[in-house]
Amino acid sequence: MTITHNLGYPRIGAHRELKFALEALWHGKSGENALRATAAELREENWRQQADLSLAPIGDFSLYDQVLDMSATLGNLPERARANEGSSLDAYFRIARGRASSDTACCSVHAGEMTKWFDTNYHYIVPEFSAGTTFSLNADRLLEQLAEARAQGLTAKPVIIGPVTYLWLGKAQDGSNPLDLLPDLLPIYRELLEKIAAAGAEWVQIDEPALVTELSADWRHAFALAYHDLKTTPVKLLLTTYFGELRENLQLACELPIAGVHLDAISAHGEVSQLADWLPAHKVLSLGVINGRNIWKTDLNATLDWLEPLKEKLEERLWLAPSCSLLHVPVDLESETTLDPEIGNWLAFARQKLQELGILAKALDHGREAVSQELKANLGAVESRRQSARVHNPAVAQALSAITPELGARKSPFSARAALQKQRFQLPAYPTTTIGSFPQTPEIRQARKEFRQGTLAPQDYTVRIKEEIAYCVERQEALGLDVLVHGEAERNDMVEYFGEQLEGYVFSRFGWVQSYGSRCVKPPILFGDITRPNAMTVDWIRYAQSLTDKPLKGMLTGPVTILNWSFVRDDQPRRDTCLQLALAVREEVQDLENAGVGIIQIDEAALREGLPLRQSDWNGYLEWAIEAFRISANGVGDDTQIHTHMCYSQFNDIIGAIARMDADVITIETSRSNMELLDAFKGFEYPNDIGPGVYDIHSPNTPKAAQVTSLMKKAAERIPAQRLWINPDCGLKTRRWEEVIPALEAMVAAAKELRAHH
Ligand code: GLN
Ligand code: ZN
Repeated sequence: MTITHNLGYPRIGAHRELKFALEALWHGKSGENALRATAAELREENWRQQADLSLAPIGDFSLYDQVLDMSATLGNLPERARANEGSSLDAYFRIARGRASSDTACCSVHAGEMTKWFDTNYHYIVPEFSAGTTFSLNADRLLEQLAEARAQGLTAKPVIIGPVTYLWLGKAQDGSNPLDLLPDLLPIYRELLEKIAAAGAEWVQIDEPALVTELSADWRHAFALAYHDLKTTPVKLLLTTYFGELRENLQLACELPIAGVHLDAISAHGEVSQLADWLPAHKVLSLGVINGRNIWKTDLNATLDWLEPLKEKLEERLWLAPSCSLLHVPVDLESETTLDPEIGNWLAFARQKLQELGILAKALDHGREAVSQELKANLGAVESRRQSARVHNPAVAQALSAITPELGARKSPFSARAALQKQRFQLPAYPTTTIGSFPQTPEIRQARKEFRQGTLAPQDYTVRIKEEIAYCVERQEALGLDVLVHGEAERNDMVEYFGEQLEGYVFSRFGWVQSYGSRCVKPPILFGDITRPNAMTVDWIRYAQSLTDKPLKGMLTGPVTILNWSFVRDDQPRRDTCLQLALAVREEVQDLENAGVGIIQIDEAALREGLPLRQSDWNGYLEWAIEAFRISANGVGDDTQIHTHMCYSQFNDIIGAIARMDADVITIETSRSNMELLDAFKGFEYPNDIGPGVYDIHSPNTPKAAQVTSLMKKAAERIPAQRLWINPDCGLKTRRWEEVIPALEAMVAAAKELRAHH
């Protein structure tokens, strides 16, 4: 029988039960017991949904983050977690979010740093190390969950993060090398594995996704050291990799003394046969054959075409699983009762993906006839998607093939454009502006909600939004800002707003995916060729512009960000989807220009998120991503000013690509680092205008004018003053007006001060 297993299941719950239980605890509305009860129910339900697997994962469930859980298991929660009174859960949440439910503001400690989990949209809490870090085992959580699952009748497979990846994920504050901790860490792993074996588990999934990245010799060597050390452990280790190809690490993975290897056969399909050839005959090969990163049905027949010969060759050594943890997809398609049925038939969420896995295993074990009905239904769905006129629009294909390099180029170089724009807008030195959104008050959210539910009539909604726009414009004029915005009151989310107006998108109701802790996102589903039936923003922006003589900046989300924050098609390259989005955004840009909007900002907040895991693959991505941006932006006259915005703080390594975007003005996040991020501009002469953020919108602190002035003076050491703008780090929608007004006043005052000494 083909062994089936799963690498991890979404823990947030089909209706975000975990989110609400966490937030109830944090807001003091319930106690720890209520949270623990919800968590136990979710685990039970998750295991019920995984009951048909040969091996069900345990330990993948987490109250906040699986990496933080691993830190707790290894006794590596930072010292400050214990700084205050409280339970072990309090200590855990203090690191997760800076404060426990019982802490008053006075007693909070700084949260652990959060960063992206490989190239996903999930964020983990970075383990903290120093030269003096010591480890100690706390296996309770894992052993409890193992006992629970066994009591439920499952054959459980504990999931842990492997020692090398654990160190690789962390950071040493004191500049020491985390790898030096490996000798102290391994005994803890040995102890943990012994306990797991004693508790009755046969297999342990030991995640080492660092193997799909570029590793230096030290790190590669660490794998050999670690797994030789764990060789005598009484459990069987399934060395698990995902999110990419092993490439130069493939042989290393084959040779480690472990009982089996899991390969992500979706993103590393080309390595399957090599691995099957190279893997020693006593090792298991687990293949991730169902995509754990998207929401499409698998083409089961096509998968069987290549799996069947492998099954013949490997026999019982072939295991089947999803490509990675299902953490990255929504829970259950069954909840989507209002989804367009034609499109719904093309989709599979976590629960459906496991059903697909079962069908594949059955076909391998008993022949395709044993599942002929299921395979026929699957083929029907796959064919319906492949042939649907809703997916394939010949006009879009034609527009794509008609793209020429000229489409992405401005008419004149920056210096010529800048001169014309200077004449047109007559802006002072150090122009002040904002990033787009203004505070989203509860009233505004309520109005949007009622409009969506149909309880607020469209004309009344329009009046409400116009009032809000007018208020925003008035405030900005009173503050004395130079380039105004309309405030984005009509937008729930910077991608969803556009997705809803583009042809080629659908929206789920419960398609939530955990982003971090209790925070979930519901990525829109891009299923077909993209067209823009109508202008998306022009009416609101034109209205805002009609209220002021100051230039008003039209606000759009760029094609790369729309792509990176959506579930996208798997039937064409991401590049093609991105170019389609670019053509749609380009039409909007041109409509704005025709409506008299002279300044247009195209946000590319997620440009960096799309970077491949290996730096050697970056250029391939950046080439089409930058091209897509340029196509979206550059269909305008020289005196139209294009802005872009990016809200991440690392750009040193892609500064060349950012310059190639050729936006007239770019605004970026910098205030938190005291402008040190601008060091990127030391070795690289950024050619166009730039607005380094001076107001950290993530913090409740309001900057004073003197701080802004001194930040800008620092910026002027890197970038010529005549090319500097003054603006916040990012949009203001999460802040309150009471905070925003003094912060913007400080910006304007600083600008005046700087101009006076110009
Ligand atoms: N224009 C958007 C806003 O101001 C940009 C948001 C972002 O960069 N994440 O909210
Ligand atoms: Zn931003």
